[in-house]
Amino acid sequence: MRLDSEISDILTRATGAIASGCAELHHAPLRDTATLSRWLAAGHNAGMAYMANHLEIRERPELLLEGARSIISLAFNYNPAVARDAALPQIARFAYGFDYHDVLRSRISGAVTEMAALLGGEYRICIDSAPIFERYWAEECGIGRRADNGLIAVPGYGTYVLLAEILTTLPIDLIRSHGDDCAPVSSGEEGRGDSPLQCTHCGACRRACPAGALQSDGCVDARRCLSYLTIEHKGEWDATGTAAMQTPSGRRTLFGCDICQRVCPLNRHTPATEITEFQPIGGLLSLTGAEAATMTQPEFSRIFKGSPIKRSKLAGLLRNARNTLTDKG
Ligand code: SF4
Ligand code: SF4
Repeated sequence: MRLDSEISDILTRATGAIASGCAELHHAPLRDTATLSRWLAAGHNAGMAYMANHLEIRERPELLLEGARSIISLAFNYNPAVARDAALPQIARFAYGFDYHDVLRSRISGAVTEMAALLGGEYRICIDSAPIFERYWAEECGIGRRADNGLIAVPGYGTYVLLAEILTTLPIDLIRSHGDDCAPVSSGEEGRGDSPLQCTHCGACRRACPAGALQSDGCVDARRCLSYLTIEHKGEWDATGTAAMQTPSGRRTLFGCDICQRVCPLNRHTPATEITEFQPIGGLLSLTGAEAATMTQPEFSRIFKGSPIKRSKLAGLLRNARNTLTDKG
């Protein structure tokens, strides 16, 4: 649903969101719970055991905030203005700048303060910080559609977007406009160049996925996903992980993976983000595998202060960097 224009203005001005919408809270559909259960049963969550927690809350998001009645979904473009040279090992674009959890929380908190002053109510901001079916709610709020690479595509921006949610006790009638009930509100809804507005099911993302992690239902088998293996996985890789990291693309991966997004026609003309905190931090554009492989703890802490790359810890980055040095290409 479209937001009231005054609220929409607060959210986009104060946060830098490229799309925002709202929906009345209701039980999330069993379809999403069933998909998650199948993914867990297949072991595709790898070492992310926490994904099996709080299934009841995922289905009933009103449990996250007492008296919650509505949800606002927000999308943020994180595409940096400049990309690393293709000859360097890949670092996922979301990790070029400062950690989006901190950046977005700070920005959304300002907007929530303004909303509370205008309308009252209680709020809870969710940025990967609560068990919630965020892609389901993004669709319900009309800000984008799921693509076959498993991500939400926002018309005119593609899938280089981050999602965040605001739960609120305000009733939906207070925060929606009286206009069109379910139109997307992205400022790029007209599309750009020859980029399609929605996933065309062309299959390019699945064909490009180096070790077959991307499944036909858009779910990802984390055990063979370069993103999981270089960011979330702790310690040495098992045989499946090692096989994925020994593919040519795996050997060229330092932190995270954008391959299924790079090949996607939805992302052909994604503009550069206007969020300055998502532009590359100093030294990131030129960091080589060899430099990363010899990094000391003080260097790691200094260079990646406030960066999502700190999530892998020094040990993870060294492991990834040593692997890139086996690249024969
Ligand atoms: S590459 Fe094709 S199938 Fe995959 S998400 Fe993009 S448009 Fe959809
Ligand atoms: S992030 Fe990389 S490895 Fe993971 S599903 Fe996408 S293309 Fe495959």
